[in-house]
Amino acid sequence: MMQKNDTAVIEIIDIGVNGEGIGKVGGYTLFVKDAVIGDQVEVKVMKAKKNYGYAKLMRILEASVYRTEPRCRYARQCGGCQIQEMAYDRQLVFKEQKVREDLERIGGVDKMILDKVMEPIAGMEQPFGYRNKAQFPFGTDKSGEPYAGFYAGRTHDIIANTDCALGVPVNRTILEIILDFMKKNGIRAYNEKTGDGLIRHVLMRYGFATDEIMVCLVINGGEIPNVSWLVDRLKVIEGMTSISVSVNTARTNVIMGDSYRVLWGQSYITDCIGEIKYQISPLSFYQVNPVQTETLYSTVLEYADLNGSETVWDLYCGIGTISLFLAQRAKKVYGVEIIPQAIEDARENARINGINNVEFFVGRAEEVLPEYCGSSTCDAGAYADVIVVDPPRKGCDSVLLDTIVKMQPEKIVYVSCDPATLARDVKMLCGSGYEVKRVRAVDMFPMTVHVETVVLLSKLNTKQHIEVELNLDELDLTAAESKATYDEIKAYVLEKYGLKVSSLYISQVKRKCGLDMGQNYNLSKKEDAKVPQCPPEKEAAIVEALKHFHMI
Ligand code: SAH
Repeated sequence: MMQKNDTAVIEIIDIGVNGEGIGKVGGYTLFVKDAVIGDQVEVKVMKAKKNYGYAKLMRILEASVYRTEPRCRYARQCGGCQIQEMAYDRQLVFKEQKVREDLERIGGVDKMILDKVMEPIAGMEQPFGYRNKAQFPFGTDKSGEPYAGFYAGRTHDIIANTDCALGVPVNRTILEIILDFMKKNGIRAYNEKTGDGLIRHVLMRYGFATDEIMVCLVINGGEIPNVSWLVDRLKVIEGMTSISVSVNTARTNVIMGDSYRVLWGQSYITDCIGEIKYQISPLSFYQVNPVQTETLYSTVLEYADLNGSETVWDLYCGIGTISLFLAQRAKKVYGVEIIPQAIEDARENARINGINNVEFFVGRAEEVLPEYCGSSTCDAGAYADVIVVDPPRKGCDSVLLDTIVKMQPEKIVYVSCDPATLARDVKMLCGSGYEVKRVRAVDMFPMTVHVETVVLLSKLNTKQHIEVELNLDELDLTAAESKATYDEIKAYVLEKYGLKVSSLYISQVKRKCGLDMGQNYNLSKKEDAKVPQCPPEKEAAIVEALKHFHMI
């Protein structure tokens, strides 16, 4: 065990879920922020637990081939990016592996199935400057001057920086005008601790498809004195479309107030994803990476594989972005979202795009869908060919998953921002008659540890599913003796080859090897019975197990 303040020289051999480097001293594991896999580093232990500890990167003795010069000089302090010092190609590998490992370990998806269904992660060509939205907090420095910046990781200390590498260049121009205005007019930044001061945050949005710009100042009070001075300077910026103010006097971490007031221009900017136009107001939710959002939604559309005759449900639909994308190819799309304003935006977006085959509901997906579905059996109204879900990090509610299974859609397209909860939900769906057909990770947030994933699940061929289940039930009725043998074979194959094999596969191999199957191994008498056949790798492993147990 190591103690606080101990130093060590280690090699970084793995990457943790938060992007930190992982190294070992004997059997003791150290997590090192800012260390890159492959680095040789000198570290100092900051916090020591029994089997692991957190250490600080003191010196890089030998830099990993995956290490790269960060674009931003505050990359280590700022809470926004976690892995800017890791080469972008390696970031993509890390994210793809994270998705794969979660699906395998938590989701119980077979390694060989993953080999087949995992498609290469969709990365960005330009992994900087991708964000269309920035929210900068304001603070006051030691000399009493206002400054803008970013929160440091895990704290609310504001690091002065008007030049975030993930945002668009015009943000800096806007911030400098606001700071100049504050200095010249003696307007103070908000102080979180005392609750004094006026300017809390600025929200800036940029329409990548339209070059329209929005600025919304969040203030701790009713008015900004002499605000026309500021508006006159902001409105001449090319592309400026909307300048507004949102009042937030609450002593909370929530950035925006409940409403906003236009100071100049429109109340919204317009942006497009693919063919669809969206009006975005200061309070609207909108995906922050428009380039990758198009990739994400195109993947959803590709996986849904619509021909125009389908009924689709889009659960957790936000402002209806996916719903409208799918409506282009479906007969009817129903969207469900918990936030009423988002649904107002969704309806407005449907209207401005002339899309009539969508209907939106406000409420919890896990309440709206079961209600619509009816308490016992689903009536015709709750029919779905395809169900899309895009839940927040905590994943889908189990009541919702049960309802989806009851509705028996042909396809489920699961969009997820958290691979662990995705894997948990995939496991449940795979235990209820669905199988994973395609998986694609999409890098929506380069330089951070976040990863978005799209999974296509298809309903197992019903006949096949039921018949196989029947056979397995029958197999389970075999004598205790041979049942034990089955379990032993399964355990042996898993232990030795890391493969999961079913009783069905074992019985297939036994039969091939000329072993008596007994009367229980009766396949369906129907001519068209389709039974999954044991793949060659598993067959080889089972044969080996049979030899091991001296059965052949
Ligand atoms: N699909 C949208 C939004 C996804 S974000 C897009 O791509 O833009 C997840 C959304 O789920 C958020 O808008 C959040 O408000 C909503 N949400 C959270 N819990 C919910 C619930 N229980 N039922 C319905 N919507 C919910």
